[in-house]
Order: sequence, then structure tokens, then C-alpha cells
Amino acid sequence: MPAMKELLKALIEAESTPGKGELAAAEIVPAEFRRAGIDAAIDSWDSNRANIVARVKSDGSRPALLFACHLDVVAPGETPWKHPPFQAVEADARIYGRGAVDMKGGTAAAVTAIKRIVESGANLHGDIIFLAAAGEEVDSCGAIRFAAGPGPGELAGVVIPEPTDFDVVSAHRGMLWLEVATSGKAAHSSKPELGVNAINSMRLILNELEHYEIPAEPHEMLGTCSMSVNTIVGGKALNVVPDKCSIRIDIRTLPGQKTERVVDDFREIFARLKSENPEFDADISVMRTVDALETDRDCDFVKDFCSCVGARETKPIGFTTDGPHLVTFGAPVLIFGPGQPTLCHKPDEYIDITDLEKAAEYYQNIILRFLT
Ligand SMILES: [Zn+2]
Repeated sequence: MPAMKELLKALIEAESTPGKGELAAAEIVPAEFRRAGIDAAIDSWDSNRANIVARVKSDGSRPALLFACHLDVVAPGETPWKHPPFQAVEADARIYGRGAVDMKGGTAAAVTAIKRIVESGANLHGDIIFLAAAGEEVDSCGAIRFAAGPGPGELAGVVIPEPTDFDVVSAHRGMLWLEVATSGKAAHSSKPELGVNAINSMRLILNELEHYEIPAEPHEMLGTCSMSVNTIVGGKALNVVPDKCSIRIDIRTLPGQKTERVVDDFREIFARLKSENPEFDADISVMRTVDALETDRDCDFVKDFCSCVGARETKPIGFTTDGPHLVTFGAPVLIFGPGQPTLCHKPDEYIDITDLEKAAEYYQNIILRFLT
């Protein structure tokens, strides 16, 4: 237990925000694995980005199990914290810090479970693969890089130790991030009729979006698709007609939903607005897409996993994960880990120390169930 707590604290203190990158955090884990004689490789790029991959070999008579973590955390935000976000303060039987639940707690528990299995001398029939990926919170660059690599071989399943408070999660919505930009013509605003106001053009789009319904049938577990316009930027000076305005839109998508359809709908709206107003000019670009995740709840892996951890059913979760980038391996993906999902990305994020130990025990049992 002290080792697991110290590992979590070191990972939090490594401050793997988008600004600082993952390399410092990545260097901690191989040292920890080495104590149990496990080799782990750091795959580093762009000076401070990093994935970690470790593989515990078996006799290979069964498919492997992949634990897929992420190393990065979101920035601590503007709101002051009770405990400094990167000091990993232990108080009230908890460890506080950015990443405590999302997802350095689950990562420390997975590393600990793998070490304990190896130290116990268990006779493994399938390999244990451990991935801690870069950039999950931004663009999933680490998971995409891993998925494009040599491949893990045949997998029994993928376990993502994100915080689910020990619910077994088999589905989440996907993401479609769009940027819409209008262009106009700058002019002195004492004579606005000489310009084309890009903010006015954006107003026309926003009015249209009020009534726009995304074409997607509700999903039995995940409910409906959602759309929210979350940023707007436009105008340079109080006395200049603005020639640029842009908004960014977060759409949460359902399994099987065609994101191109939404982009086509937007283009149709722009075309109509232009036909009514020749000076109207707008463009759309896709900033990021992540597919939804939907793992077959009736497959053997899911059933065995649920019985192994004492869960009666699988559930959906509100956030997205690297899971959709790992389904290319053809194995079922489940999310299961310690801590409250509601604490993700919030000030004073923490994990209960008892949950850490519980998670390590669950992961050990899962390894034994599928690989021995
Ligand atoms: Zn996460």
C-alpha cells in the first residue's frame, strides 16, 4: 500500500498538464515496474510528450488483457484549491491533487496490480499489456499513436481504469467539435453600410441553430445527442465593423451516428442564408471527433468481467475516453475504476485511499480471471 500511495503522489506531482506534457510522469512508471522485474518502454516525441507501454509475457496460450490508462491531466483551472493541485496532499484518508481520480489513481492501482501478480509468480496464460497514453484530454494523440503501432496481438479485452466508482461501464457518447467562422468586410463603423458585419452573419447562424435538431434517434442507454455553442469570438475594435466572427460547438454523439450528416446540414443552412443574403459568408471545420463507445453487453468478456467484480449490469458514463480509439483491436472495451466521476476536472479532485487498494485488488482478480 505505501508503494501505491507514493506512486500516485509522484504521478500527481509530475504535473502532466497540456502545457508541460507527459514525459516527467512517464519516467516514474518504468522505475516502479522495474522493481518487479517488468520492462516498460517510454515512447516519447515532441520533446515532452510520452506514452508508456509494458508487456508481461505469458506462455501465450490465451489472448492478452490490455489496461489502457492516460498520463495527462487537465489544467487546475482558475478556482482556488483548498490543497495545492500538484502537491498530492494526504488528508481525511484521501489524496488530493489534479489527476487523483482522472486518472492517476486508476493508473497507480493498475501498475500495482500488475506488479503484485508478477511478484506472486502466477502462471500466466495470456500477456498483460499496460498502456499509459498521452493527450487523452486534448486529442487522444497517445492512444491514436499506440493504435497505429505494431499492435498488441489477440486481446481478450481492454480495461480502462477511468473513475467509474467501480461501476462497469460499456458505453459513452462520442464527441464532435466544430468551429464555425463567418467572414465579412471591415469598415469604419461611422459608415457601417460600407462593410459586412461578421457578427451579424453569426447571429443569423445562431438563430438557425436554435431550431436545429441533430438527426439521431435516442439510444437506449445513452439518451439523446446534445449540442452546445460554448465559445464566441468576434470583432477587433469598438469603431470597426467586424470582418471575422467564430463560434465553437460541442456536440455529443451517439453510437453509429454519422457526423458528416451534421456538417452537411450546417453547409445547407449556410447555403440557404447566402441565397437570402449574398454578402453572407460562413465556413465550418471539424476540430475533433471521437466516436461513441458501445461494447456488446452480452459478450462473454463482459459477462465474465461483471461476475468477477460482482456487478449485475453495465452502465453508461457521461464523459468520453480513449476507448473508441482502441476498438480497432477488435476486443471488447470496458471502463472500470476507482473514484467518483463527478470529481473529474474540478478543484480539490481527490481519491479515497481505500478505493485505491480496492481497485488494485479488483484488477488483480480480473487478471487472474482472464489470464490464468
Ligand atoms: Zn480521464
